[in-house]
Amino acid sequence: MFDIKEYSGVAVFIEQFQGKIALVSLELLGAGRILADKLKVPLAAFLIGSQVSDLAAEIIQSGADIVYVVDKSTLKDYRTASYRQAVEKLVLKYKPEILLLGATTMGRDLGGAVATSLGTGLTADCTELDIDEAARALKQTRPAFGGNIMATIMTKRNRPQMATVRPRVMAARPKDPARQGKIIQEEVLDIDEKVKVLDFICQIKSEAPIEDAEIIVSGGRGMGGAKNFSLLKELADILGGVVASSRKAVDAGWVPASWQIGQTGKTVRPKIYFACGISGAVQHLVGMQGSDVIIAINQDKEAPIFKVATYPIVGDVLQVVPLLTKLFRERQS
Ligand SMILES: Cc1cc2nc3c(=O)[nH]c(=O)nc-3n(C[C@H](O)[C@H](O)[C@H](O)COP(=O)(O)OP(=O)(O)OC[C@H]3O[C@@H](n4cnc5c(N)ncnc54)[C@H](O)[C@@H]3O)c2cc1C
Repeated sequence: MFDIKEYSGVAVFIEQFQGKIALVSLELLGAGRILADKLKVPLAAFLIGSQVSDLAAEIIQSGADIVYVVDKSTLKDYRTASYRQAVEKLVLKYKPEILLLGATTMGRDLGGAVATSLGTGLTADCTELDIDEAARALKQTRPAFGGNIMATIMTKRNRPQMATVRPRVMAARPKDPARQGKIIQEEVLDIDEKVKVLDFICQIKSEAPIEDAEIIVSGGRGMGGAKNFSLLKELADILGGVVASSRKAVDAGWVPASWQIGQTGKTVRPKIYFACGISGAVQHLVGMQGSDVIIAINQDKEAPIFKVATYPIVGDVLQVVPLLTKLFRERQS
């Protein structure tokens, strides 16, 4: 049984690959900072890998008060059993009440393994995190029942309360080079790891990842057909952005599934999001409403997308988009 009173503080598992911190971990430090401030407890980071100690400064600048570092050559490559053992050791020693991980391939794998071995709860793919002050519990909100409701889950009896969050759902804090924090080196024993990493083969993608793009030009069913997506590509190219879509455009076979934004697609947070012929269903909005500026083009002035639009444009996408491309091209030249 857990004595939950023994557990205090918020911790973030820092995902890194070849010495670079995953953006989602910086976003979780931003979210973790807010939770830690509400609970009036420190924000810790668990940094695991080989030759990773130098990353601790960046983690403190991004919001952490303490970084626990397990830096060991045998932890160079991610493998479930070794990383699980390292995280478990840090949890049992420092007893954070909350542990956050990115809902990435690594975070999903590690989160499940750690929660199972510690016998605690894990809420996957959260879109919102908050504190229930009466229960001093983490409110973990995520879509449920096929996205028809948002469920808020609390882990009341076990600790740590574990949650994974998808990239681009939370906002990272601007780095503060003046922030000070503690760095504590930790040792773990080597385990009899059954999995050996023999080689890494990186697949070079032909297009920039949609999640990292600062400008996204997204099309929906209102585009009227696959060929009209070339209009969006022209606009995206002029602005140095990428093309994405709603699910209806994917379901119609006009664009690949990897372009889909929304609850069952990708979550994005670009500087500018163009929604072209997209109605603004809630399942689409959850994937893009964190964008800084939303420019919506729709011929229906009552379309729900206009409720979140910074700049609403009522008109036919097939006329408005080429006009915008022409204007931006003129500006550039
Ligand atoms: C469990 C579940 C998960 C889902 N996940 C996702 C998801 O991840 N992402 C997602 O996008 N959806 C998702 N959906 C589907 C979602 O509910 C909507 O059906 C979908 O987002 C609608 O896509 P759309 O806006 O392209 O099409 P529509 O809703 O058909 O809207 C088309 C819009 O285009 C406008 N239009 C038409 N012609 C023109 C024109 N010539 N010029 C300008 N405007 C025009 C129309 O006025 C309309 O507003 C999910 C649904 C469920 C049930």
